[in-house]
Amino acid sequence: MNMDRETVRIFDTTLRDGEQSPGASMNVEEKTVIARQLEKLGVDVIEAGFAVSSPGDFDSVARVAQTVSRPIVLSLARTRELDINQAIKSVEKATHPGIHIFIATSDLHLQRKLMMSRQEVLDAAAWAVGFAKKHVDYIEFSAEDASRSDWEYLVQVFAEVIKQGAVTINVPDTTGYAVPDEFGALFKYLTTNTPGGDRVCWSAHCHNDLGMAVANSLAAVRNGARQIECTVNGIGERAGNTSMEEVVMAIRTRHDFFHLRTNVVSEQIYPASRLLSQVTGLTVPANKPIVGANAFAHEAGIHQDGVLKDKLTYEIMRPESVGISSNKLVLGKHSGRHAFADRLKHLGIDLYEVDMNKAFDRFKRLADRKKHIYDDDLLAIVTEESVRAPDRFELLQLDVTSSSTTLPHAAVRLRIDGEERCGEGDGDGMVDACYKVISQITGVFPKLERYAVKAITGGTDALGEVSCLVSQDGVTATGQGAHTDVIQASALAFVNALNKLEARRTRYRRAEPDEGP
Ligand SMILES: [Zn+2]
Repeated sequence: MNMDRETVRIFDTTLRDGEQSPGASMNVEEKTVIARQLEKLGVDVIEAGFAVSSPGDFDSVARVAQTVSRPIVLSLARTRELDINQAIKSVEKATHPGIHIFIATSDLHLQRKLMMSRQEVLDAAAWAVGFAKKHVDYIEFSAEDASRSDWEYLVQVFAEVIKQGAVTINVPDTTGYAVPDEFGALFKYLTTNTPGGDRVCWSAHCHNDLGMAVANSLAAVRNGARQIECTVNGIGERAGNTSMEEVVMAIRTRHDFFHLRTNVVSEQIYPASRLLSQVTGLTVPANKPIVGANAFAHEAGIHQDGVLKDKLTYEIMRPESVGISSNKLVLGKHSGRHAFADRLKHLGIDLYEVDMNKAFDRFKRLADRKKHIYDDDLLAIVTEESVRAPDRFELLQLDVTSSSTTLPHAAVRLRIDGEERCGEGDGDGMVDACYKVISQITGVFPKLERYAVKAITGGTDALGEVSCLVSQDGVTATGQGAHTDVIQASALAFVNALNKLEARRTRYRRAEPDEGP
């Protein structure tokens, strides 16, 4: 990788640490779609998973490794031979393969979790890096819980793994405990005192438990780090990881202060954020910096007046610079295939990845029901098409009746493995009636863990996007559906979730609990 001192590498762990967010689990197809977008976004490294943790994780890493060509693709591994062998095997088809080895270094973790002495951990780390180096050149080493570890001991461990061939040294704030001044000082100490530290790339991996992940990452960069580990929309364990869009835009907007750059194509930030929300069903709060619905909305009259006179009065970034289009009204019923394709191209969508016939067909059907089609509607159409699991169940027809005096009633017609089946019944509400009938027909009765409706664009004819999270026997799946009628969207989302649940239940079982730096 061609890197200079002015470039901060972006290491994306949406597919590994990010996936550890409750309810964010993704299947192989979904991870591949996200990985393609990450490549388009210009991230330097993709951590695609933890190969040894389950056959599903192994497959996902292997598929991502074959899907992208520019970024380095990594699998996580503990300091065990089986972990390292599986990790190496999973990335073997990558253009730029790598592995990421970690072990905890804080006394608390050593005594309570690993039951190992400092010397034993040092030996395990050195052995693992040396062993892996015989098979793959790019090795990153992480000292889990580094921010609560003894600084001198960290220097010893890092010096040893550098000697064994680690090329990137990651310093995680695993628990989100660090404070910017202190975390910056730790980097200054490590980069000046670690023998061989000038030959490696120093990396920060922060969690947001105290809301300081972005600030801590930037403090690390001010003190010599040249890689930030982060996730799209800041998803991740507990309160999440460092948010990719926030660090990237901070470095870009405050170039006058940091004098640094990243390789991220900022116009791809919003499409990436939206795609991830749609795939996982985890929506972004309206006030989330950079990608929230209100991030660029000016409400106060005095601000609006200023912005109209000169945008710079209250705007430090242009919405277009992160891929949010200000020209929102785009297409309607009479727009042709050419205009449709043109708009998709403008939104940064690779037309080769889209089934144009299907997508255009959905667009036309939507235009029949909805007067104005906005950019977000188009993105919803295209992503829903691209992340659709191979369907066992297909919704053919849904009729729902409801009044203030009778129980809501649903009649549903589905295609199951090519065969048509019907059913009907009552429920506590229209959505409840639909879900009960669909469960009866399919014979799948999952628990509905989460259900959310979002109007994608304004107006009463807006496209409603429903996402739901279902679980059964410890396996979870999210489903999405978009329709101008929210009850139809709800049914589509539920059927989509059942399809994914079926695919997941037959394919994988997670072998080991999630963990990592
Ligand atoms: Zn982490």
